[in-house]
Amino acid sequence: MLLQENTLDFQEENTVFADVIVPVAVPNLFTYRVPRDFAQHIRVGARVIVQFGKSKVVTAVIARLHHQPPQKYQAKYILELLDDAPLVTPQQIELFQWIADYYMCHVGEVLNVALPSGLKISSLSKVQFNPEFDRPELLTEREVVIIEELKKHQSLTYDELARFADVKNVYHLIKALVQKQAIIVFEEVKEKYTPKIIRKVRLNHFYEEAGYLTALLGELEKTPKQLEVILQYLRYVPVLRTPALNGKGLEKSTLTKAEISDSSLNTLLKNGILEQFDVIVSRFEEDVDFVEAPTPELSEAQKRALTEIMQSFEEKDTVLLHGITGSGKTEVYINLIEQVLAGGSQVLYLLPEIALTTQIVVRLRKVFGDKMGIYHSKFSDNERVEVWKGVISGKFQFVIGVRSAVFLPFDNLGLIIVDEEHETSYKQFDPAPRYHARDVAVVIAHKQKAKVLLGSATPAIETYYNALTGRYGLVTMKQRFGDAQLPDIRLIDVKSARKNKQAKGDFSTMMLDAIRLNFEQKEQTILFQNRRGYSPYIQCDDCDTIVSCPNCDVSLTYHYREQELRCHYCGYHESMHRTCQACGSVKLRTRGYGTEKIEEELQLLFPEAKIARMDLDTTRTKTAFQTLINEVEKGAVDILVGTQMVSKGLDFEKVSLVCIFDADKMINFPDFRATEKAFQMLTQVAGRAGRRSIRGNVLIQTNNTKQPILQQIIDGDYEGMYAQEIAERETFRYPPFTRLIKIIVKHTDDAAADKVAKDLSIKLIEKLSAARVLGPERPLVERIRNQFIYEIMIKLEKNLPLKAVKNYISEQIETISVGKEYKGCSIIVDVDCG
Ligand code: ADP
Ligand code: ZN
Ligand code: ZN
Repeated sequence: MLLQENTLDFQEENTVFADVIVPVAVPNLFTYRVPRDFAQHIRVGARVIVQFGKSKVVTAVIARLHHQPPQKYQAKYILELLDDAPLVTPQQIELFQWIADYYMCHVGEVLNVALPSGLKISSLSKVQFNPEFDRPELLTEREVVIIEELKKHQSLTYDELARFADVKNVYHLIKALVQKQAIIVFEEVKEKYTPKIIRKVRLNHFYEEAGYLTALLGELEKTPKQLEVILQYLRYVPVLRTPALNGKGLEKSTLTKAEISDSSLNTLLKNGILEQFDVIVSRFEEDVDFVEAPTPELSEAQKRALTEIMQSFEEKDTVLLHGITGSGKTEVYINLIEQVLAGGSQVLYLLPEIALTTQIVVRLRKVFGDKMGIYHSKFSDNERVEVWKGVISGKFQFVIGVRSAVFLPFDNLGLIIVDEEHETSYKQFDPAPRYHARDVAVVIAHKQKAKVLLGSATPAIETYYNALTGRYGLVTMKQRFGDAQLPDIRLIDVKSARKNKQAKGDFSTMMLDAIRLNFEQKEQTILFQNRRGYSPYIQCDDCDTIVSCPNCDVSLTYHYREQELRCHYCGYHESMHRTCQACGSVKLRTRGYGTEKIEEELQLLFPEAKIARMDLDTTRTKTAFQTLINEVEKGAVDILVGTQMVSKGLDFEKVSLVCIFDADKMINFPDFRATEKAFQMLTQVAGRAGRRSIRGNVLIQTNNTKQPILQQIIDGDYEGMYAQEIAERETFRYPPFTRLIKIIVKHTDDAAADKVAKDLSIKLIEKLSAARVLGPERPLVERIRNQFIYEIMIKLEKNLPLKAVKNYISEQIETISVGKEYKGCSIIVDVDCG
């Protein structure tokens, strides 16, 4: 950025002003004065600490440097400059602005979501000692005191640190300690991360030399117990064969477990033969070895797909790879990534949150080693910061990540892969920006002249439409890798099964027989039911009352293990009732089946089987999900009951039967995307069956076997489903023929919410016409957290001037928001709502 030296105001002659993006939901950039000390070094894209509001201190990013003081307020000084080199690229600032405009929010909100909290020092920050820090010689005397204090605590808040340090400029201190990597900054997150540290031991470097090691072993003949420790170590870490392995060492607990006397181990440590060190393990990657391995030879089908993709890229910027489950898309991606990296460009590989598992990471690590960065929301702030900085420094030319990885500071992308591009979790709902990572990826690629490869077995209707109409290229893979067969899918009519007494509860005898047979053959079964808890509601047999949430308009779900009734919308919970609170009857009945009830009933029916459950409740902690996957892989689970979590990208060798407990709820969900979603979900779940040598079986329970979509799922007839769906979308003017903007109005007072929504819709209809503005309507759940909800849906033809329409909508919302009569209401805008 050039400073316009000649147009300076006389008084402000040498003062530099900076317009910064504050990570807050306000419309404008803010202008601050740059202290003289920083003026030489300050750059657009650097982070600064500023005071915002009376008492808040935040990290902002410089968007513009100039010499004009603000007209309307007195500019404050920047408190601290955090970076000498930009941490946010000009392309990113442009992108953030684009996202704010397109998704109708403020650029500060985009920045807030984009920057990992480890890069945002604020008055809400906490700091902790970085256990990996090993250069105490870098610290000043004062810093040593601070570090010693930090070591005594898990963490300190910004205020506590300021008080203890007793310095005026505490950010300066934090900055210095962060730069020396002595501390970690983080924000309090709901699920608190504490780095897991394991204590390891290794042989002193010296003994990596075979001669010295042999000599040592001879020496230790005199002390057999110590010799035993070393031999035990060498059993795990073959130092003689591969000396380099010694560097990684061995978990201390492994050695102590092996009936080894602690005192011998301690003597060896004391004598410097063994040495002890700590490593922080990322929860996500435990036990992953980095042995690089060559990429497997591609099959003919994969080679053909690869060639077609490359050809297609000559003409199109975005290509859809439509490959059925198990067709081997991942290997195609890997090949492509290697080529792009070899050409010197960066690659981003996006995956939905729950599909980004150790399974895929291990596979990619084998090829890309530690050149690959992983960006996952379950990672600590610090790890995310490392990836961010690694992208800037060039350490990571390739990143695999979840939706928020689109915010990383790439400046030279050659390729973005969006795997499972149909996944709705690519769309962020809360907080703003309510962006769709796939669509943002296409925009980034366009700006950086990169290519986008969208991959799916069941593409989104919009994407397939774009492919068929020529906007995107289209490449298909219709065979499974290694000619593995697609599963045999059958429907079970539960209605007639129940009528003919061929059912236990909602389990048809056919399904139970199949599970038994599979169990007896020592094969694994997945049972899918997209509803967690024990039963979705509790009803009184006498007066029919259903227990509902006091804060939301929804029934409470019964959770058996905790003996609790819970609201899945607001988190409210109460103890299970013994009697009906309306009539006092004791005949309270659980209704419907959640995963917990299915698990319980199956356990009664198959007492010998090992049954596990995979849903939000069993995977709350970081490791639980991964542990469960490992258990299934090891064969320690016979039947896995789960919600949609089981459908994503898991590749289990021995799962040969998939049972879908209830297909109808999904299909009949009142939403224009219900058919599409049901097809995707059921096809993905079915795809877990029989992925390798054996053909899998899939059983689907339904009350109506005649529904066309079920036949399409059985036939793997994506095109048939698409043809039917696209015709309906056209008739009823839904995407891809229109764009949808949903406006959600909330208020604790129902009448007030209703009035705001009605007044807003009248305003919107004035310019946009009643044909384009639907509602306001109450959504399925009318009240959440005591807020009454109304929704207005705006359908816009593709050829309308989007920008002008959005401006109009924003103006109307703003007018309403400032109106006194509308106090207390909140209005959310969701562009391209899910
Ligand atoms: P998709 O992602 O298309 O559902 P995957 O990429 O998971 O399919 O591949 C299906 C299976 O085939 C995996 O177990 C994978 O290891 C295997 N596979 C795919 N391509 C190859 C190859 N070229 N050589 C060996 N195994 C392969
Ligand atoms: Zn009752
Ligand atoms: Zn609730």
